[in-house]
Amino acid sequence: MEKLIITVALTGNVPTKQMNSNLPVTSEEIAADVRKCSDAGAVIFHVHARDSRQKPTLDISVFEENTRRIKEIAPEVIIQLSTGGRAGKNWDDRVNPVKLLPEMGSFTTGSSNLPGMVYENSPQFIEYLAKVFKETGVKPEIEVFETGMINNAVYLQKKGLIDAPLHFNFVLGAPGSMPGTVKNLIFLSESIPACSSWSVAGIGKAEIPMATAAIVIGGHVRVGLEDNLYLQDGSPASNPKLVEKVVAIAKEVGREIAGPDEARSILSLNPKYKDRILT
Ligand code: ZN
Repeated sequence: MEKLIITVALTGNVPTKQMNSNLPVTSEEIAADVRKCSDAGAVIFHVHARDSRQKPTLDISVFEENTRRIKEIAPEVIIQLSTGGRAGKNWDDRVNPVKLLPEMGSFTTGSSNLPGMVYENSPQFIEYLAKVFKETGVKPEIEVFETGMINNAVYLQKKGLIDAPLHFNFVLGAPGSMPGTVKNLIFLSESIPACSSWSVAGIGKAEIPMATAAIVIGGHVRVGLEDNLYLQDGSPASNPKLVEKVVAIAKEVGREIAGPDEARSILSLNPKYKDRILT
């Protein structure tokens, strides 16, 4: 079985320090958490931006500062910037993180209802964002909240807007989206084109069960406070603790952990952006 790639969704747009004091929010906190998680075995870091009041922002200078600090303290890791829409709806603001040329960017290929809001990704916006991935050579991670989003990605690939091999991340267990069950995970993993890679992000209580299932059936894993704030016993989680848990489970079942360069090779990342440090 392929070595296990561990991604950490460090901060997200929804959690606050009031919910979990371990949440990294500032550039310094985010970079320090990356260092600890990398030491524990994680290789990809899904990064959002918060303003000085800790609110979600699409301010490109914050993404830039987060990226720079991370690369200073952990030059080996793979950075994946978010293009999520909770912080704002302006197309160019959402696309701009990809133009910073990180190794990866997130790419949700459809709309869904999230608690209290429509997470809107219209066909027009999806094509607009796909073209930016194509032009830059940044690798998209296709975020799948329900099965139709796989079809949308395959359609974009057929139109020549994104390139194979595709990499999918199944987001399971969010209210209003597909539940985090092993049956759903197997169904989705068998619904993607051959030669694609995939990971799973279980939301809330689904995080560790979905990670465990992916470890056993050959997928990859995303954990982190963006997706889940608690350990199994109800105590506050932290990003490094969640990574340690996944590494321990992988060890128990005999799945080896991928290092950063092994992950780059498994995901066919663009080598151009590996050592790029923003100034
Ligand atoms: Zn995110």
